[in-house]
Amino acid sequence: MQDRDLYARILGLVDPWQVLDVQLDVKGEEVRVTVGPKMHATLACPECSKPSPGYDTRQRSWRHLDTCQFKTILVADVPRVNCQEHGIKQVNVPWAEPGSGFTALMEAVVISWLLSLASIKTVAEQLRLSWDEVDGIMGRAVDRGLLRRKRVSVRRIGVDETSFQRRHEYVTIVTDLDGSRVLHVADGRKRESLDAFFRSLDPDQIAAIEAVAMDMCGAFIASVLEHVPDAERKIGFDKFHVASHLGDAVNRVRRDEHKALLANGDDSLKGSRFIWLSNPDNLDAAATGALNALHEMNLKTGKAWAFKETAMCIWRFAQRARANAEWKTWIAKAMRSRLEPVKKVARMIREHLWGIVNAMALKITNAASESVNSKVQRIKRAACGFRNRDRFRNAILFHLGGLDLYPASASATHTTS
Ligand SMILES: [Zn+2]
Repeated sequence: MQDRDLYARILGLVDPWQVLDVQLDVKGEEVRVTVGPKMHATLACPECSKPSPGYDTRQRSWRHLDTCQFKTILVADVPRVNCQEHGIKQVNVPWAEPGSGFTALMEAVVISWLLSLASIKTVAEQLRLSWDEVDGIMGRAVDRGLLRRKRVSVRRIGVDETSFQRRHEYVTIVTDLDGSRVLHVADGRKRESLDAFFRSLDPDQIAAIEAVAMDMCGAFIASVLEHVPDAERKIGFDKFHVASHLGDAVNRVRRDEHKALLANGDDSLKGSRFIWLSNPDNLDAAATGALNALHEMNLKTGKAWAFKETAMCIWRFAQRARANAEWKTWIAKAMRSRLEPVKKVARMIREHLWGIVNAMALKITNAASESVNSKVQRIKRAACGFRNRDRFRNAILFHLGGLDLYPASASATHTTS
């Protein structure tokens, strides 16, 4: 008799449910706990909660957390009711979500462990579950979270791509820049990848979008232009993306010049790569001295470097007209520079100037997406890669979607135990 009380407490059973029987299989290291509703308990329809007459019962079982290292199985003849309005329905049980083969507490423990970045394999081994069972709990948690995520209204989004398994395989990730959470994960990095996100929104949600931060990626630009009204003033090209193109240009000029100087026995540019590519504010005294000395040599690399640094200063201007004017002056000078790599970036900036000015006026960068991206790579490493894209997508939404993942009855079970 004591057994029954003990298990009723362990399972957090609430009225009208009670433990009817406890069977211990010592050899099989298993406990089977049979529960059922008290006699004459009022049963409710799961749809409308109205008291309804019982119809019949169906036996079901759930895996619970082990007790004293014994596999613990909960068994119940779950009543079905005959509701006037909804017909024959199986009543809800307080310890599990409908359709799950695990108690809510078991699922909650699996979810907590996975959230701490334990791998599916580790969680499965520790809780004596199969890999597929843990994967299933994770997948259902994401589905549950996505269903619960109320009609999200997002003002500022970031679009970025991240590598999936091999280097040339990608997924597109849409991030809420204000909430730093992942809203959408799609295959590939094509126009259709982003189209799918916009198709999942209703017209009000689309109208609420004020800014979209991204790299200068033609496919993504086309998708936003098609789906978001007034997108010509909402798409912002990321500052750090422009900076990285300019950094590449400086580096290219340096490499060519270094080669030319070396041919004349001059190794002035040797080992200077870091100095040219760093933010001058971050250089120490020795590096600053070296930079100044290099500048005095009047090198092409120094000229390219100056174009990069002036361009970065233009980002201070948030007023559209001023920003436009500053860039146009910069582009004109860059085009006369006779530095081919710099001219190439200048042409790219001229073509995308509208979106660069938007980014300055809207004060957006894709930094939040970048930080999501590095977290995604961490998840990928923790999982030692993913067998397929669906699992990868699920893992990203599980860890970074800001979703409410836990089964509803888990909290109730917690409070009564
Ligand atoms: Zn009903």
